[in-house]
Amino acid sequence: METSPTPANCTVRVRGLTKAFGTNQVLRGVDLTVAKGEVVVIMGPSGSGKTTFIRSLNFLETPDAGSVEVCGVEVDGAQAASSRHERRKVQQIRLKTAMVFQSFNLFPHMTVLDNVIEGLVTVRRAAREPARQRGLALLDRVGMLAKADAYPGRLSGGQKQRVAIARALAMDPEVIFFDEPTSALDPELRDEVLKIMRELANEGMTMLVVTHETRFARDVADRIIFMEGGYVVEDAAPEAFFGPGASERSRQFLGQLH
Ligand code: ADP
Repeated sequence: METSPTPANCTVRVRGLTKAFGTNQVLRGVDLTVAKGEVVVIMGPSGSGKTTFIRSLNFLETPDAGSVEVCGVEVDGAQAASSRHERRKVQQIRLKTAMVFQSFNLFPHMTVLDNVIEGLVTVRRAAREPARQRGLALLDRVGMLAKADAYPGRLSGGQKQRVAIARALAMDPEVIFFDEPTSALDPELRDEVLKIMRELANEGMTMLVVTHETRFARDVADRIIFMEGGYVVEDAAPEAFFGPGASERSRQFLGQLH
């Protein structure tokens, strides 16, 4: 497949994104820019459009209007499903991005290693042996090498999510989107996933993370985006968002989390 060269400064830029499900206007014009190497955490009450927003960035949801640009490839949301030209650009964006889901989305009938290298082999057409070597190295990195031949059904939620992160990394993405990666996990399993996410952030990975994990947000994020009612209502550094000068609304929200 044709890929465009990656500009040195690979930015994510979202302009005026809107999306409705029937009469339910979920996104009402969202603008956001994420620079290379930035970690942006998206917080906000349930139903505010966070998941819809992040899924729109690689077109798992098709926006009604607005645009998404990743590494210089810009897709007109309104045309994303209908125009062949825009659909090709969607494919280019998908090659530069990876998504980690709340529910892991591993293939149950494949081993852990095969889950990790599936995209490499089928999408990237990598030869099996180098893909296997890369998969094993990534599993080692997330502490899951010993389970390479296990099936997902035998793993804890935390282990599944670590495999899902290895799978995301296998595609060598420029940016990773995380949609509530720890929400389905028991509290004692969350830290093992958050630790890997912290390491990725420290290594300079560009990350957009929907999460309610306030400690992660406070320690790791460069910026916190607060969404409500389909809008970005706040875009602040963690010190400001969690600090004494925080808006009444975000203070109220954070108060409800504890
Ligand atoms: P959040 O992630 O902030 O909880 P969501 O983006 O999941 O918000 O949901 C926002 C609104 O969109 C909710 O009212 C939800 O019911 C609705 N919604 C989300 N996905 C769909 C869908 N596939 N079909 C219909 N409505 C949806």
